[in-house]
Amino acid sequence: MRITVGHLFPDYLNIYADRGNIAVLEQRARWRGHELEVRALGGGASLAPGAHDLFYVGGGQDREQALIAPELARLGPELIAAVGAGAAFLAVCGGYQLLGRRYLDQSGDELPGIGLLPLETVAGSRRMIGDVLLECELQPGVRRTLAGFENHAGRTLLDEGAEPLGRVIAGFGNDGESGYEGCRVGRVIGTYLHGPLLPRNPWLADWLLAQAIAHKTGEAPAFEPLPDHLEQAAHEVSSQRAEARGGRY
Ligand code: GLN
Repeated sequence: MRITVGHLFPDYLNIYADRGNIAVLEQRARWRGHELEVRALGGGASLAPGAHDLFYVGGGQDREQALIAPELARLGPELIAAVGAGAAFLAVCGGYQLLGRRYLDQSGDELPGIGLLPLETVAGSRRMIGDVLLECELQPGVRRTLAGFENHAGRTLLDEGAEPLGRVIAGFGNDGESGYEGCRVGRVIGTYLHGPLLPRNPWLADWLLAQAIAHKTGEAPAFEPLPDHLEQAAHEVSSQRAEARGGRY
């Protein structure tokens, strides 16, 4: 099967090699006999309905975010329609912030978001930096951990009743106070975790691929497990670093 990924603003939002997440999706799809076609979506892009199974946007500093926020906001209605029709989405850090309604950046400027996620972000004076460990339950009853690295000044506040991606075991998370990290709406995941995220959390890569396939076929496949020894070792190292760091903000 050919899975089509729309990679939003790859030249601007690619901090900490967030592009590595795409490499993981490509390889894990290939191991399952699927092909990933990655299309860059930049300024002036338009989305043909149903053309993308998965969208991806990486992180960036305030400066890069300010450069692309108006263009991303222009694509907002098409992205919201695509997600409404079942496309999956992974957004990291700066990209995550712009999936909310707005981001008030460090210089006090208001950047428009696309309003796909029920949240807003306001920059604080202290950066929240370091390894993070979360506990997630994307499928009821199936608890898993996510390990990554965060570096953000933005404090993200979820709307009342919004679903976070996970509970913070170690690290700051959305705002350093709530104990929650990221946001999830159906097949859309927003998170502050870089690292890159997917190489050390292969279960999330598989979850995203399964959601992208479900957009095509109507059903999320149950993949055969892969021998993820290296990936598990990376996850372990990252988790231990987060736990050694201890506590929260
Ligand atoms: N500019 C945002 C912040 O500092 C996002 C940074 C990032 O993507 N690492 O909050």
